[in-house]
Amino acid sequence: MSPLSRSPYVNLLAHSPIDRLAHLRDRSEWIEQVLQSGTARFLPTQGSRSLVHVSNPPRPALLSTHELDDLGASIRAPVLLGIREERYFFSVPVGEDLPLPDSFEFRDLRPLAGLLEPWEASLLAYARAMAIWHRNHAFCARCGSATELAEAGHARVCLSEECGRRHFPKVDPAVIVLVARGERCLLGRQASWPEGRFSTIAGFVEPGESLEDAVRREVYEETGVSVSDVSYHSSQPWPFPSSLMLGFLAEADSEEIQLLDGELSEARWVTRDEIVSGETLLPPPVSIAYALVREWFNTEPGFDLDSQGESGPPVWR
Ligand SMILES: [Zn+2]
Repeated sequence: MSPLSRSPYVNLLAHSPIDRLAHLRDRSEWIEQVLQSGTARFLPTQGSRSLVHVSNPPRPALLSTHELDDLGASIRAPVLLGIREERYFFSVPVGEDLPLPDSFEFRDLRPLAGLLEPWEASLLAYARAMAIWHRNHAFCARCGSATELAEAGHARVCLSEECGRRHFPKVDPAVIVLVARGERCLLGRQASWPEGRFSTIAGFVEPGESLEDAVRREVYEETGVSVSDVSYHSSQPWPFPSSLMLGFLAEADSEEIQLLDGELSEARWVTRDEIVSGETLLPPPVSIAYALVREWFNTEPGFDLDSQGESGPPVWR
């Protein structure tokens, strides 16, 4: 794997300038003061969607207390996200029945992320992950009693006196890996994807498993290929709904492809020329999968993935 660079790489959603103020989450009086001050800004969420101003490009709605009032929404179950440039950000869930003026819309982050400022996309990703966790944890996983919000929205506490368990937001680690062998890399396609679309190999880490072992297992299960020399590349929070993608590079020890677990409908060894020609379409540039393919692609002198193609690199559109 020595030709591949291991320089630090920052993915979209992965470099947030928000100070999360985690050490202040249990100071409820201070949080109450902040909520009443003019420095609080609210990000309304509806299910997993975030409120945006309808504009071109769209802008996230970061509303003052007055603006939230004008919409007819209330400060219910606020989650302290953190501070940036003297503004304290809170996400607040609002009901499905909130009537909206034409200038606002609830949208899903996935198609939106690449259109926003990177820090805005990070903030919305954080708000989305928290909103989904709260929605799915209204009841205690141990005893089934109702739970209530605590620690400025970063915990939920079981209301049963006998139980009282404290629950914390969950993140699901997943490995994603670019496997290289000589002049080719290993990409796979799920049956539900349109013809020609390929991506790097990925899967969830299992209990009791190291990241490196998860990489070796996932690549083998999905493609039958054995890998070694597994090295870390970069990470990307992926709140769809609660993943953390951990990107790796690995060298293949074998070539024969066998789709052992049936998760992929096709896997193949791909050359740079097959990517340049558009025969193999890659995931969009906002994804860590693209960043991993680029890391390998650009190690060959004269190849630069970002500058391929007249209307941009050959990716899913
Ligand atoms: Zn309980």
